[in-house]
Amino acid sequence: MKILSINAGSSSLKFSLINMENESVIANGVFERIGIDGQYTIKFNGEKYTEEVTLKDHNDAVNILLEKLINLNIVKSLDEIDGVGHRVVQGKDLFDKSVIVDDEVMKKLDSIKHFAPLHNPANMLGIEAFKKALPNVPNTVVFDTAFHQTMSKETFLYPVPYDWYQKYGIRKYGAHGTSHRYINETMTKILNTNKFKLISCHIGNGASITAIKDGKCVDTSMGFTPLAGVMMGTRSGDVDPSILPPVMEAENKNIDQIINDLNKHSGILGLSGISSDMRDLTEAYNKSDEKAILTMRKYARRITDYIAQYYVLLGGADAIVFTAGIGENSFIVRKLVCDNLKCLGVELDDDKNSNCHGQAKISTKNSKVQVYVIPTDEELMIARDTLELIK
Ligand code: AMP
Repeated sequence: MKILSINAGSSSLKFSLINMENESVIANGVFERIGIDGQYTIKFNGEKYTEEVTLKDHNDAVNILLEKLINLNIVKSLDEIDGVGHRVVQGKDLFDKSVIVDDEVMKKLDSIKHFAPLHNPANMLGIEAFKKALPNVPNTVVFDTAFHQTMSKETFLYPVPYDWYQKYGIRKYGAHGTSHRYINETMTKILNTNKFKLISCHIGNGASITAIKDGKCVDTSMGFTPLAGVMMGTRSGDVDPSILPPVMEAENKNIDQIINDLNKHSGILGLSGISSDMRDLTEAYNKSDEKAILTMRKYARRITDYIAQYYVLLGGADAIVFTAGIGENSFIVRKLVCDNLKCLGVELDDDKNSNCHGQAKISTKNSKVQVYVIPTDEELMIARDTLELIK
């Protein structure tokens, strides 16, 4: 069984072709600059193929992808593709799990597209393109928000006028659900039980922390949009909304511009003035740059705040997992966070933490909470869901 896992953006389309017999990636790559000019990169068998091509729209990207799968001998026939799984950012409360695409699903997606205007319409373009190019192959949709649908009303409501929720759907939806679910599945295998309390820290350029009890999301740090929660590469995370009017007035900005500042010019980039990239920040931190030290400490502090909150919410934690670009690679961030958690009995094994590559347990034997690093794999999760649905 071979499944295509697709992540379509407004001007890009990423794909992974996965062999589900052993869950290995056969080929992957990206089509970029769709609607501008166009180029693709495909990785297969240790080779990298790059070419500039005309990509007027997502249909062009999908047609060329399918052509290349044959021409590069990645598959002998397109009949080998058993299903196509699509990442969709926002499923609102209409979707609490992955589903097979049909007309009803497309209608529902259309009705909620304005909740993620930068992502959902692009995700839908990807689905439409595959429906056209491979009409006999089932498509599925896998939502970033679905895993978080188990949050209670007490958790997902904001303390604002109740009719904002009723009239406008204002509530917490969360994101990165596919990644947090993957981490939960992996921990289920490691701990050999599905009854545990887990705090999953997906910290990459975007970042969210999720509290999981017995496999179900109890709370998550992102909110109505991914702007909420911990500070991120360029996003502020939670701030007092009253800071906006004085800056808007002083800088003559409208609401879109100031929200853009919170999304694109804040977080690690905004506070440090150095970069949004943790590698650059770490370099400056190692040279004792004052702003880098301040930013790194604030970053670790925001993550700690959420872990501590969820520790109390869950009534303790069996495990804390770090994942995504920073969680998987920055031993300094992991160390700063875990040092903040010493009062909870979290004890990091410094050697294991510094020398960790890939999946590893990095806490000591005596640590009251087990700490792990687990590389996330959202593409595989999408393919697993697709396989399950089409079986
Ligand atoms: P992601 O969004 O999951 O791709 O993560 C991107 C973030 O991971 C960026 O801030 C990168 O700087 C960070 N990252 C990747 N590799 C490393 C590394 N070796 N050390 C520190 N940060 C890293």
